[in-house]
Amino acid sequence: MTAVRHHQVVIVGGGTAGISVAARLRRQGVTDIALVEPSEYHYYQPLWTLVGGGLAKAGETARPQGKLIPKGVTWTRDRAAGVDPDNRIVTLASGDTLAYDQLVMAPGLQLDFEGVPGLAESVGRNGVSSNYRYDLAPRTWEFIRKVRGGTAIFTMPAGPIKCGGAPQKIAYLAADWWRRQGVLDGVRVILVLPTATIFSQPDWARVLEGVAAGYGIEVRYESQLVEVDGDSRRAVILDSKSGTKESIDYDLLHAVPPQSAPAWLKDSALADPASPFGYLAVDQYSLQSTRWPDVFALGDVANLPTSKTGAAIRKQAPMVVANNISRAPERAAAGPLRRLHLLPTGHRPQPDAAGRVRLPAQADAQLPVDRHDEAALRHVAAQAPRASGDVLARHAARPPLTGPARLCRIPRRSCRGRHHLR
Ligand SMILES: Cc1cc2nc3c(=O)[nH]c(=O)nc-3n(C[C@H](O)[C@H](O)[C@H](O)COP(=O)(O)OP(=O)(O)OC[C@H]3O[C@@H](n4cnc5c(N)ncnc54)[C@H](O)[C@@H]3O)c2cc1C
Repeated sequence: MTAVRHHQVVIVGGGTAGISVAARLRRQGVTDIALVEPSEYHYYQPLWTLVGGGLAKAGETARPQGKLIPKGVTWTRDRAAGVDPDNRIVTLASGDTLAYDQLVMAPGLQLDFEGVPGLAESVGRNGVSSNYRYDLAPRTWEFIRKVRGGTAIFTMPAGPIKCGGAPQKIAYLAADWWRRQGVLDGVRVILVLPTATIFSQPDWARVLEGVAAGYGIEVRYESQLVEVDGDSRRAVILDSKSGTKESIDYDLLHAVPPQSAPAWLKDSALADPASPFGYLAVDQYSLQSTRWPDVFALGDVANLPTSKTGAAIRKQAPMVVANNISRAPERAAAGPLRRLHLLPTGHRPQPDAAGRVRLPAQADAQLPVDRHDEAALRHVAAQAPRASGDVLARHAARPPLTGPARLCRIPRRSCRGRHHLR
């Protein structure tokens, strides 16, 4: 028999975004919260890059979900299967339903391995792997260790993906390992990027171009992986500029799959018609649904101009809490919604005539680099040649969920925590 339960706040997804919002709501004194999350484990995905690079173990990235869900939050161990925003109802896979006053959507995104012909069948064997899955990240490291020469290809798909840096970070880690083994000269390393530059912010692009060149990495811009033949170990790369395809034999292929909104949401009423990938429509300043004031979305599932990262969620979660749930009873009397400043602190955008702070379309390319970014730029440029073996090893040594995982050695006081991951 199906049951109907009511909660003041229902959060769908207990990943970085869902847990962050739940914890902040509890701190604000909200007592009736249900968190819908089917998985027994919570995964700290940023560390999967280091698992693939041999600098961390997969097990270190998983924590029992029950230990992370804040006390006082009801864990509904089920999968959301549908949302009826007009009637404020979430339907669960079990057939049960949850009624809500406010809904926070945070179920992440889906990996579309089948979006590249041959990739889904090949991944995990014959030298093909992807750090984007918990079970596959250790395979990456296995395959990297086996390479003593030949060709290694690292690819990034077109479209928004989580952690746009991860497709190239693993290339640097692998190249660094091969260099330390004395075999890098015999490995042709190809980095395939859909973009015209290695990074959208020019100052950082210059640093990363130097890192890639330092390892002798051949960077193919505006190119994509379009086919994999796992048995023959052959990848087809499309050069979008010329429209030509090239088949390349590989010894290792690290492929980041195309990504999109979860299938059950991309055709739902919450999906943004403007997003070809089905991500959810929210106001980019307040994270409130553009149609239903009691629905919010954040993290990877939301159609936002920010990167899809834990770092972005760190800014989004406080905004969701400030804007809606904690002020729900007095919302009518409250002032306008607080607006999310998605820009780095060095940039101070001015409100327009309507009082809205606009995020420039090419924000990251246009932004000035502030004092703290300059320090970070110098730091990365200096450390990059030995980044994987030295700096990253030290970062990996710190368990991510038991304390702040430091991304750099700039004293926290100087960078005000902006270059550190919590
Ligand atoms: C290899 C890799 C490297 C990365 N590196 C970095 C980095 O260096 N820095 C950084 O900031 N970010 C990084 N990221 C990105 C970061 O991990 C994600 O952006 C972040 O985890 C997104 O959080 P989320 O809560 O939106 O989604 P997730 O953390 O993916 O959580 C979604 C949750 O929703 C649950 N769920 C799914 N479907 C349903 C459903 N139907 N009903 C209920 N629950 C559901 C899932 O079980 C999951 O627990 C990296 C990611 C990867 C894969």
